[in-house]
Amino acid sequence: MPKLNFCPECAGPLTAQVINGEPRGQHYCARCAQGVVDHPMIVVTAFVACGKRLLWVQRALQPQQGKWAIPGGFLEEGETLAQGSARELWEEAGVRLSPQQLQLYMVGTITFINQIYVAFRAVVPVEQCQAGVESLDARFFARDECPWDNVAYPQVNDSIKQAYDDLDNGTFDVWEAEMTAAHYALRKVRQSGD
Ligand SMILES: [Zn+2]
Repeated sequence: MPKLNFCPECAGPLTAQVINGEPRGQHYCARCAQGVVDHPMIVVTAFVACGKRLLWVQRALQPQQGKWAIPGGFLEEGETLAQGSARELWEEAGVRLSPQQLQLYMVGTITFINQIYVAFRAVVPVEQCQAGVESLDARFFARDECPWDNVAYPQVNDSIKQAYDDLDNGTFDVWEAEMTAAHYALRKVRQSGD
């Protein structure tokens, strides 16, 4: 989990906040005399399918430089979830889709990296993509073509495999994922067509 080391208000050093004798995952700034909460970051991603293939990008930047991932990144100020996802698709993979073309697909909590992710899905008629400045390469892979031994975020492999299952089955439920140090769970929020 990324640790917050400095106060976002005054840039002073933070210490672990202890409440009733136990650290509470918060930090304390002595200069501001207040607690600072390290709120989870929101990551927006998009599963773009062409037939049974999904769009992947090879990261040009650290961390995980040279490794492959489903296109996505941090939501920016002023964006809706779908707008952020569409922006990342364009920036990383050269795929231009409007936010309206993206459908909600997965929502997940990854507590050990302090992130929430929201994944959308879309279908494109042709495998057209181009690596952006943050990518070394962009390609569509069928399940058995995926670089599974060179993925940037193996924590979400099960979610990606679920997306391939859904492509095989032709059904697209909305999924909620919980990934904590203790357990992993992926469950349907609703049936398609509801
Ligand atoms: Zn401070």
